Amino acid sequence: MSYPFDKPINEPVKDYSPGSIEKESLKQKLFELKSQQIEVPLIIDGNEIKTSNTSTIDMPHNHEIQLGKFFMASRDEVDLAIESNLKAWHSWSKVSLIDRCSIFNKAADLLSTTWRDTINAATMLNMSKNVYQAEIDAACEMIDFFRFNCWYAFELNKQQPMYSTEFVKNSLEIRPLEGFVFAVSPFNFASIGGNLPSSPALMGNVSLWKPASSAVLPAYFIMKLLEEAGLPDGVINFVPGSGKDIGPRALESPDLAGIHFTGSTNVFKGMWKTVGNNIDNYKTYPRIVGETGGKDFCIAHESANIEILVTAMIRGAFEYQGQKCSAMSRAYIPSTIWSEVKDLYEQEVDKIKMGDPEDFSNFMNAVIDKSAFDSIKNYIDHASASSEAEILTGGKCDDSKGYFIEPTTIITSNPKFKTMCEEIFGPILTIYIYDPMKWDDVLKLIDNTSDYALTGCVISEDEDAIINARDTLKYSAGNFYINDKPTGAVVGQQPFGGSRASGTNDKAGSMFNLIRWVSMRTIKETLDSPKDFRYPFMGEEE
Ligand code: NAD
Repeated sequence: MSYPFDKPINEPVKDYSPGSIEKESLKQKLFELKSQQIEVPLIIDGNEIKTSNTSTIDMPHNHEIQLGKFFMASRDEVDLAIESNLKAWHSWSKVSLIDRCSIFNKAADLLSTTWRDTINAATMLNMSKNVYQAEIDAACEMIDFFRFNCWYAFELNKQQPMYSTEFVKNSLEIRPLEGFVFAVSPFNFASIGGNLPSSPALMGNVSLWKPASSAVLPAYFIMKLLEEAGLPDGVINFVPGSGKDIGPRALESPDLAGIHFTGSTNVFKGMWKTVGNNIDNYKTYPRIVGETGGKDFCIAHESANIEILVTAMIRGAFEYQGQKCSAMSRAYIPSTIWSEVKDLYEQEVDKIKMGDPEDFSNFMNAVIDKSAFDSIKNYIDHASASSEAEILTGGKCDDSKGYFIEPTTIITSNPKFKTMCEEIFGPILTIYIYDPMKWDDVLKLIDNTSDYALTGCVISEDEDAIINARDTLKYSAGNFYINDKPTGAVVGQQPFGGSRASGTNDKAGSMFNLIRWVSMRTIKETLDSPKDFRYPFMGEEE
């Protein structure tokens, strides 16, 4: 069947320039959200549930203001959510793909219009994103996930066996999984939060969604948006709370059909182990999809354009305070161009303004919470104390008002220095200056320095060097960029995900992800069914 909706195109990014209508309207919404105390309940079977256990909804850049509170699930609510999911499955799994797509396309339309300011403002305040980072995540990427996934679902449905004959009709039936999908989202992308429960739901599944506690407000608004778009009760249940309470309860359910996770490698490995321990209890083998950490690299060639390189380093490493799984966190710069790179880099980093996202002139804002602040600061302290490292820019951390960490650059003489190997998830870029005669060795070094393989980039004007880097680093990154920063994947253009310790690489926002949420049934209809068990070869010899 041809696609019955408009073919998706990427949602245009609004620029929020001074005096623009969109800027005024967003400013009003920011004011509105800050002037009220919002209560975020659980939403199970369409019912808003308020438990006795609550936690605050914070603004990372200003401890003094709280946006409200959210209610946390106990194991009882997890059981209730699973029960509701399984009830909803009976009707939702039979809803046609066109009708399911109508709901998610409507959600995209609502987010593009009436919900845009609310979800962007919640992302700016609760996650400390500047307006551009909020717009490309919470509005544009979320809209793209909804619209493009509908397109991919239809493409998937076109897959049918190669042959039927006049005697046999063959077909593939695409069925949702039996049971519920446990969707667990990270704090750093509102759109990932929305996509994790909704891409299985689009394929006819039901999801139990546990959002990240430090970014619960945009997640709640996405849930309300989906309700307004017409998603039936119980298809996605919204269950905020502690991962340690909710996770084990959901994972031990015999009806667990899949995990759709994005977050840290350790939490994902823990979930996988729990699944292993429960393997005898499940009715079906759970599909396990997890996109996890990164230690994303930049390799500059001697021929690199210095302005392109420096821009990629600054945007790649410091946008959203380096809290992107794809953030550039290790760079390899040839000694022959280092002096020129260093001069421009220091000048440009010096221009970075940091502060409250409501001041639109700030490029950087705060890191998400105290535990992130402490962990990032420990890495800076470690580098400051080491004889193998020096701090080139930044290094100061200040949590007196909000969790602010300066854009920090470490130069190390040891390519396996701690900050070259471990995911830090903060605004720290470590640079190793290499001898350009050892280009091949450096490529091998990049490949074996960390356990991760998420993103990476090469900056070069030399075509042979680009091809060489692309080929040698074939398994070092699931998303590889040439003459660009390693962040900012766009749905429909660069399907996202990495391998090794970075995840199962099921490429969010593509057909490859949707395939994980369906289980095929093959149907063969024989039109001239045999009526005799004997074959021709069994005939009597003359
Ligand atoms: P996290 O692993 O701390 O938390 C992720 C989610 O898991 C949260 O909702 C958390 O509450 C939940 N959780 C924690 N323990 C759990 C348990 N035992 N059972 C079930 N759920 C549990 O990650 P984070 O700090 O929110 O996000 C940052 C991490 O996410 C980084 O490592 C980053 O690289 C990764 N990330 C990866 C991608 C990708 O596409 N590869 C994208 C975004 C973020």
